[in-house]
Amino acid sequence: MELRIFQKGFNYSQDGPGNRLVYHLQGCNLRCPWCSNPEGLACTGEKTYSTEELLQQILSSRMMFFDGGGVTFTGGEVTLQFEAAKELLTLLKQNGIHTCIETNGCHVRLPELFPLVDHLIMDCKHHDPEIHRQVTGASCALTHQNLRLAIKAGMQPAVRIPLIGGFNAAMEDARKFASLFRELGLPGNGTLELLPYHEYGKDKYKALGMDYTMTDAARISPSTVSEFTRIFTDAGIHVIRT
Ligand code: SF4
Repeated sequence: MELRIFQKGFNYSQDGPGNRLVYHLQGCNLRCPWCSNPEGLACTGEKTYSTEELLQQILSSRMMFFDGGGVTFTGGEVTLQFEAAKELLTLLKQNGIHTCIETNGCHVRLPELFPLVDHLIMDCKHHDPEIHRQVTGASCALTHQNLRLAIKAGMQPAVRIPLIGGFNAAMEDARKFASLFRELGLPGNGTLELLPYHEYGKDKYKALGMDYTMTDAARISPSTVSEFTRIFTDAGIHVIRT
């Protein structure tokens, strides 16, 4: 099977533990207006690799996976290339490589990947599936359900919230997120990271001839991050920074 990839490179401890080879898989089912990888949204891509080719590439990088590192698949959205990703993850597990995926959690078959994934990063952009649908194009009800299943399976997921002014960053949102995470069983069973809005992808939109619709209203003050951190910590959730 083949995977479409639009970017790859090493990074240290940002997308999973240790030094990791990170693959960005082409295609996403959502259209978050703040997305910093607009070049990866379309499902068609020029660079296609067979799973066997990728396995060999990864095995030959093995010496670089220090400090508990390994391979991370992010996007785009990894689950859009479900079968090929599953095949490669299976091969990596058979070869003893530490695996991580970062996902928006919206795929109904995501739990099939849990036994193949050592570290699960799940983006949780909103507590309200309808608001999530209006802004990103799809509901996040499955994300919440998959998060619950991951916790039940003992995965210790690393949950990430992109904090976006005017979307999910009011204090009322913090309280609703906290109550959702309590209900899903996150306290004591995973971590939470807040990712304040940034404009890293802005110039790419222009280069691609796409509209960048975000405004300064999306910016997040340090006090908002502190307040969110306090509310989540009070709810027994382990808030981390990477
Ligand atoms: S889920 Fe991630 S990759 Fe997809 S549009 Fe949103 S930010 Fe971009």
